[in-house]
Amino acid sequence: MSKNKYQSKQDRKHRVFAIIAVVIIAAMIASLLLAGLTGCGLQTASASDYIDRTSFYFDTVINIRIYDNQDESILDGCMELASKYDSLLSANTKDSDIWNINHSDGSPVTVDPDTISLLDTALYYAELSDGAFNPCLGSVISLWDFTSEDEQDHVVPDSESIEEALMHTDYNSIIIDSDNLSVTLSDPDAKIDLGAIAKGFIADKIKDYLVDNNVHSAIINLGGNALLVGAKTDDSSFTVGIEKPFSGSGEYITTVSATDKSVVTSGIYERYFELDGTIYHHLIDPSTGYPTQNSLYSVTIISDNSVDGDALSTACFVLGPEEGMKLIESLDGIEAAFVYNDYSIEYSEGF
Ligand code: AMP
Ligand code: MG
Repeated sequence: MSKNKYQSKQDRKHRVFAIIAVVIIAAMIASLLLAGLTGCGLQTASASDYIDRTSFYFDTVINIRIYDNQDESILDGCMELASKYDSLLSANTKDSDIWNINHSDGSPVTVDPDTISLLDTALYYAELSDGAFNPCLGSVISLWDFTSEDEQDHVVPDSESIEEALMHTDYNSIIIDSDNLSVTLSDPDAKIDLGAIAKGFIADKIKDYLVDNNVHSAIINLGGNALLVGAKTDDSSFTVGIEKPFSGSGEYITTVSATDKSVVTSGIYERYFELDGTIYHHLIDPSTGYPTQNSLYSVTIISDNSVDGDALSTACFVLGPEEGMKLIESLDGIEAAFVYNDYSIEYSEGF
């Protein structure tokens, strides 16, 4: 479940290639060992039992592994989808739909129907979580850099900048006109950031594509978020590891056995820097503009659709243990595991 912590904005491309190289070497070693250990879960299959592809999109390493079909062109199709959605939904990719909306000075922007659909879902979860999940937090998020390797980038923004940015984070300023496929930001200084939900949405799209192509046993791993397609080829469940926070990759605090489910985690250990003994992490409290402070290290959500799990994992983390678990228990078909900063785990009732 290793997430990319190594990317700086300036040398993104070099790091992308470096990461892909590391991933390929790691994959070769893994193949030699025939261990079947994936980035997000423990599989018992040998390396020859599947085809897979690893790449780098959405600022993170992604891997698609198919167990019941040997057609490599299906993997090509998955990567084309990943590329398409990266260039549609990333706030950092010039001329993406989100980039265009964020740079429109408040005028309407025509977008893809998928962008409308995801923004609709994002606003639904913003309402449901009372703004704990906020897709309009871009002005604040862009003040922080949690991913740079360069320590000089690890700075706490000054409070005036945060106060100013916070004034432009009202998600009600995202005006959607579904009939005309257009989106307007009524506050021209507001910025949309879908980093907390886009990977889940894209995983669901890739799963739809796989099922349409007669794949019924696969794992879609987008930066450690797993979406299971069906079951293993012997009809038994997949087992997905939930990363032990701050352990480095490969150590799991618990595992989930499931078929056809999404397993998504939001954790402070995924992107953070440490300054004077304080950890500054990427899960921002929209009421303060600073990293959320509570007793949690991570929240994992089990759901049918990954878009729901992705939005809820971020929302529940920011809501905190009590409000977060209350929200989970109010929803049908959603389960959660909350990992506390003493490494104890609280599970939802139906987990
Ligand atoms: P995730 O790993 O899905 O929890 O998403 C975390 C990412 O979402 C961060 O790196 C930010 O880009 C963005 N983000 C941080 N805090 C919030 C929040 N409260 N609501 C929505 N997006 C957020
Ligand atoms: Mg999320």
